[in-house]
Amino acid sequence: MLHNIDAKEYHCEYICRKPRLSRDYLLSFREDSILMRGQRPPVLAEAVTAAQTASLQYLFSISDTSFYRSSTPFSETKTLQYRSVQYLRRLTEPWLAFASVTGYHLDTWYRRNQYCGGCASTLCHKDDKRALVCPKCGQIIYPHIAPAVIVGIVHGEKLLLTKYSAGFNQSYALIAGFVEIGETLESAAQREVYEEVGLRIKNIRYYDNQPWGFSQSLLVGFFAELDGVPRITLETRELSEAVWVDRSDIPQSVSTLSLTSKMMEAFRLGQPV
Ligand SMILES: [Zn+2]
Repeated sequence: MLHNIDAKEYHCEYICRKPRLSRDYLLSFREDSILMRGQRPPVLAEAVTAAQTASLQYLFSISDTSFYRSSTPFSETKTLQYRSVQYLRRLTEPWLAFASVTGYHLDTWYRRNQYCGGCASTLCHKDDKRALVCPKCGQIIYPHIAPAVIVGIVHGEKLLLTKYSAGFNQSYALIAGFVEIGETLESAAQREVYEEVGLRIKNIRYYDNQPWGFSQSLLVGFFAELDGVPRITLETRELSEAVWVDRSDIPQSVSTLSLTSKMMEAFRLGQPV
């Protein structure tokens, strides 16, 4: 999955670490696109001078390599180009793909929280932790992570597969949705399933989870059994299709990045779910 970075370790602690031009990476975003040098984000020395590093913001480290954010976009050159963050799904180095998507999550939070929601003052960064503070009213804003559930609904030898009605992704997926305030993960799974396909579920069990910076979320995967009749009532604003697919007819996942793919593949291969 996207966050599997082999033997490397992700360090999210907020620390003061001086940028190293020839070793560390720049993560620069322009709305939903990221500055790339070919198949990877640029090393600092490929995009900034030593003097320019003073304006960069430390994000995190992966093993001994650190990643820094620029709050303003760069001018594109022949070798440095902004590309859609969806392009990150195709990167050949998993740790750089994970770093870039995680940087996108953080950048989105920083961009959307420049002013205090209580008094409209400009927010400042706290010195000692990853948080923004209002110098006027003292409100502290911590990074936002939206929990969301993915549900694999099993009915005998069949799994319910869906397609979204909008967006770029037209391959098969599972029922998914954000957790609402006051809900448990299990009750969110039950509600999303009923809202999207009109089915009841039982025997809900945890499967796995995954940080997913594309949607600023933490995805939590569950499998559950159908409770009642398998008649689908499609919510067409969210889904274009929902079908019961026999285990042997489930298409093999082409990507191994997402929890959805892992869950579909686990069911297809008859693994414990
Ligand atoms: Zn304020």
